[in-house]
Amino acid sequence: MHNASAWKAWNPITGCTKISEGCLHCYAERMAGRLCLMGQAKYKDGFRVTCHEACLSEPFQWKKPQRIFTCSMGDMFHEDVSDAFLFKVFETMNRADWHVFQILTKRAERLAAIAPKLYWSPNIWMGVTVESERQTKRIPYLLSTKAHLKWLCLEPLLSAVPNLPLDGIHWVILGGESGPKARPLREEWVTNVRDQCVAQKVPFYFKQWGGFNKKATGCLLHGREWKQVPQPTLEFY
Ligand code: SF4
Repeated sequence: MHNASAWKAWNPITGCTKISEGCLHCYAERMAGRLCLMGQAKYKDGFRVTCHEACLSEPFQWKKPQRIFTCSMGDMFHEDVSDAFLFKVFETMNRADWHVFQILTKRAERLAAIAPKLYWSPNIWMGVTVESERQTKRIPYLLSTKAHLKWLCLEPLLSAVPNLPLDGIHWVILGGESGPKARPLREEWVTNVRDQCVAQKVPFYFKQWGGFNKKATGCLLHGREWKQVPQPTLEFY
């Protein structure tokens, strides 16, 4: 789904199936294949959707508060994940309230359908992927939830998004695709989204240009970094 190397990852659900254009070069699929070949028991079924009961308690063992990317190796709201298991994942996040759990999904309709049955503790940051103008249709589903902090992931961004509905959105992350077959990211798409965020006072985080060598292309936009992160006020906690 998302290269979460900068954050701690927690993966009680792994595996997925492709759903939209952003999935073409899915990082999680490649990584799961590699881990399967390396003989890791958790990935013995490769990228098939799998729920891992034994992982549910892991966040309780991490005493230091952390920002935890939840289900970075799949999509938590995939249709093959039962409601019952989703409730368990949420129970852990609700109880382990010293951590922040960042969730990202492309299954926005399922998210909206099950959201009223979930408890949205303030430490859950809920996001949807918007990799193109067409996928802005996911945003109203996110907005319909009671998540305290709602964010958008424009990665890998594949088109201009000139009319990003930012009302009710607390954070935007944008990034280009990386790897040998990376699709291009245009500078004007990035500056346009940045300008919309600045105008609406939404923190903007530009992760990377991507491309064949993402280290070489970096993350500077007109000579400066954009690494804004929401600062939830105390009312969140
Ligand atoms: S939704 Fe995310 S994890 Fe699933 S195939 Fe697409 S990019 Fe990969």
